[in-house]
Amino acid sequence: MRALLVVDVQIDFCPGGALAVPGGDKVVPVINRIMDRFPVVVASKDWHPRQSVHFGKWPVHCVRNTPGAEFHPGLQSVKIKQVILKGTKDKDDGYSAFEATNVDLAAYLKERNVTDLYVAGLATDYCVRASAIDAVKNGFATYLVEDAVAAVNVHPEDGARALREMEAAGVVRIRSGEIP
Ligand SMILES: [Zn+2]
Repeated sequence: MRALLVVDVQIDFCPGGALAVPGGDKVVPVINRIMDRFPVVVASKDWHPRQSVHFGKWPVHCVRNTPGAEFHPGLQSVKIKQVILKGTKDKDDGYSAFEATNVDLAAYLKERNVTDLYVAGLATDYCVRASAIDAVKNGFATYLVEDAVAAVNVHPEDGARALREMEAAGVVRIRSGEIP
């Protein structure tokens, strides 16, 4: 059984948002196109308290229950079976969807007999990277849909480096058109 994990496709991470990922909104049509190929679709949200150590590193973004924390309005969110909330504590970056506090993601997927996890969303060099590497650690065959992710690129090579690190950890890179 395979599942799609959509990471943090939220207003604040898209152009015009508080922590915009360049081209972040370009992942939306790709993700919408592939969702139907997965019996299980889950999506994470960065869901921060107003005050967090995380905001010493980043501009304030994705504060829970604010418009910036909503999914991008173009995302077909009706297909999302479970929303995964992370970064919910004031001492917690919550880069990985496997660190969610509202649901144990690994257990959720295993209960549904998911063996293969496809990862898409934002941003390649932080939450996508951490989530994909944790997926491998949790025993899932893990695929990165590389035309359905975008990087922050605080340093210009960060996205490319993150791709190499994921690959070294055992993540398989795939393009959306190659998903069987
Ligand atoms: Zn955050």
